[in-house]
Amino acid sequence: MDSVGESMIDKKIQLNIRNEIVGINCKVPLSNGKYVTAINFDNAATTPPFKTVINDINRFAPWYSSIHRGTGYKSKYSSRMYEESRETIMEFINANLNSDTIIFVKNTTEAINKLAHRLLPEKNKNVVLSTLMEHHSNDLPWRKRFNIDYIEVDSKGRLSIADLKNKLNKYKNSVRLVTVTGASNVTGYINPIHEIAKLAHKYGAEILVDAAQLISHAPIDMKPKNSPEHIDYLAFSAHKMYAPFGIGVLIGPKSTFEKGEPEYSGGGTIDIVTHDYIKWAKSPHKDEAGSPNIIGVIALISAINTLSLIGMENIFEHEKKLLNYVIKRLKEVPDIILYGDTNNYKDRLGIITFNIKGIHHEILANILSYEGGIAVRNGCFCAHPYIHRLLNINKKIIDERIKNPDMPHPGMVRISFGLYNNFAEIDNLINLLKIISNNKK
Ligand code: PLP
Repeated sequence: MDSVGESMIDKKIQLNIRNEIVGINCKVPLSNGKYVTAINFDNAATTPPFKTVINDINRFAPWYSSIHRGTGYKSKYSSRMYEESRETIMEFINANLNSDTIIFVKNTTEAINKLAHRLLPEKNKNVVLSTLMEHHSNDLPWRKRFNIDYIEVDSKGRLSIADLKNKLNKYKNSVRLVTVTGASNVTGYINPIHEIAKLAHKYGAEILVDAAQLISHAPIDMKPKNSPEHIDYLAFSAHKMYAPFGIGVLIGPKSTFEKGEPEYSGGGTIDIVTHDYIKWAKSPHKDEAGSPNIIGVIALISAINTLSLIGMENIFEHEKKLLNYVIKRLKEVPDIILYGDTNNYKDRLGIITFNIKGIHHEILANILSYEGGIAVRNGCFCAHPYIHRLLNINKKIIDERIKNPDMPHPGMVRISFGLYNNFAEIDNLINLLKIISNNKK
């Protein structure tokens, strides 16, 4: 019998897509010593690589060589591949080929730290508006040099556009940047980035979108510079888009990076050096210190090509079906607590967080692994302020926890889908959750 909502067409697409993922048939041990095929519902942390990505890395391996530093054929070839990749990335998110630059970094965290270093606070323009739903990577870096304030979320955990308007009105033209996640890694809410951009620009501020979660789940359009809705800066990591760790991207206007000094300096960043003089190289090289990660770039481009071939709209639609199905089925589990809006959730990606009353989230996550081979994540997902709000943890409790680190950690269990997950895997999860809930003391 088909699971509810799953058509034969879905199944055929699924079969093909599952063939494209490395490690889909890995067997993992259960507590009874038996082995089962692993189910990965932790794609918001990291996605497994595409086979095409691994194949392209292998194909390129005999050719890889130092970038911008050699006259040998391989070095020139590697340098060309590295430089040409910037255009492919720009096309994927519709960046501005003429006015934007692509800077290769390690991951989203490094991208945001870099921008927080390179975007200088100006006199009377030193406020950054972040939000209550950010990953720590899009909060902590801004605390060092800017006055930071946080846009509120509503009772369901959605970003409050009304509060964004209030804050823009309060700080007026002193807002340098509005920095917002494209989608929450806790609730999966997709923020209306173009509406936010329009509001930010109206007050003379720029906008950064942390696209770590959004990039491999929905199409992103940075839009032309002359549109009030355009996105100024975008950051993302390859390891969340079916490519390996160690490569990420920061995109933004060339003009920002032409000014000022890079936070790292060394090989590749300069034009002329004497002991008392430095002439920096042009952007983006000024911001890519050291020998570049060409293998990472090859992997990222391969992943982008495969994502484009499958189609970002198709991926979004498929994961939406998984979300609809899992929400419906999770509601069958006794004593379940679901976070975020589970009645009206058109604006959510395939990420859902929950608890079962009376079971600590860490124990629940471990049972899913040891008894079902199901990988999830539990805890606060590097978003403490948001979790505190969603769990109604007030300042008094937080202060107690600071004094007493042995207090149990608050948190939730998170499942997050990738394009290869299917309805049968959700059925396995629900069956096990029902057993766990029915057997708790
Ligand atoms: N931003 C969001 C919304 C995330 O979900 C994550 C990682 O989970 C990050 C930033 C940080 O990404 P990375 O660890 O690749 O730097």
